[in-house]
Amino acid sequence: MRIVRSTTRQRVLSAGWRRKGLCIGLVPTMGALHAGHLSLVRASTEQCDRTVVSIFVNPLQFGPREDLREYPRPRISDRNLLARSGVHVLFAPSAVAMYPPGFTTAVEVHGSLLQGLCAPFRPGHFRGVTTVVTKLLHVVQPHVVYFGQKDAQQNKIIQQMTRDLDLDCSLKVLPIVREPDGLALSSRNRLLTAMQRRSAPVLYGALCAGRALIGRGARRASVVRAVMRRILATESRVRVQYLAIVRAQTLQPVARLRGKILLAVAAWLGHIRLIDNLVVRVPQR
Ligand code: AMP
Repeated sequence: MRIVRSTTRQRVLSAGWRRKGLCIGLVPTMGALHAGHLSLVRASTEQCDRTVVSIFVNPLQFGPREDLREYPRPRISDRNLLARSGVHVLFAPSAVAMYPPGFTTAVEVHGSLLQGLCAPFRPGHFRGVTTVVTKLLHVVQPHVVYFGQKDAQQNKIIQQMTRDLDLDCSLKVLPIVREPDGLALSSRNRLLTAMQRRSAPVLYGALCAGRALIGRGARRASVVRAVMRRILATESRVRVQYLAIVRAQTLQPVARLRGKILLAVAAWLGHIRLIDNLVVRVPQR
């Protein structure tokens, strides 16, 4: 596995692969790798001729009071994990390599995808994400980019961006990988205290209870949300930021449940913010 830190070097490598007709897969990450990331890596190494994993803790997507400095950066164990996973290149640029002095461009998606869920609570976050992903796509020139369902809103926004800007790559979204107790794997889980870790699975518990209620015939979003809220309230350490029921395709809120919907939650445990979601197909009656 090569470790590449320069955008020019990566661009030259990728151009060479493309000239040879090789299919390039990209897995963008912020490191602190876990089995969720590795499921994306595995899909890419199985489906593509060359796999590039990027590790870049993107300062543009962190708000001034968010955890940029605290974000875990276990560089050596990340590198060893990837080296054992059949990855061809670890692309790990510095912040200066990505945003040299004088960098003044942003890529921003507007519209209804940015009205709900995380967007109102993290102003500028998705602009940071779309800017860095655009840059990664230009540098790595992948045919396929792999994302996890965990970041459902981010995926929709990136999909919108690639469509709007005619970016020539396809997006693959893979299922959320969970701990045995249901907690969605996240790089931030390692920052939880033992007590917080014990409370954290309640997020998934609430999502599953919502799905079960819908399975038993509930069709009013307000009713399902109320039950989910009650379950979340059983853990006093969990402060809910939002609990939303939206259309899976458009992320618009729904009152009457039908079709494919997304149950989504964001919550604080201490100063650690966790998100989770579940796609539910509402049975027709
Ligand atoms: P991050 O390093 O948190 O920016 O995540 C990099 C990619 O891994 C994103 O596409 C995430 O959606 C995906 N990812 C994060 N956690 C999980 C998980 N538990 N299961 C599957 N994919 C995940």
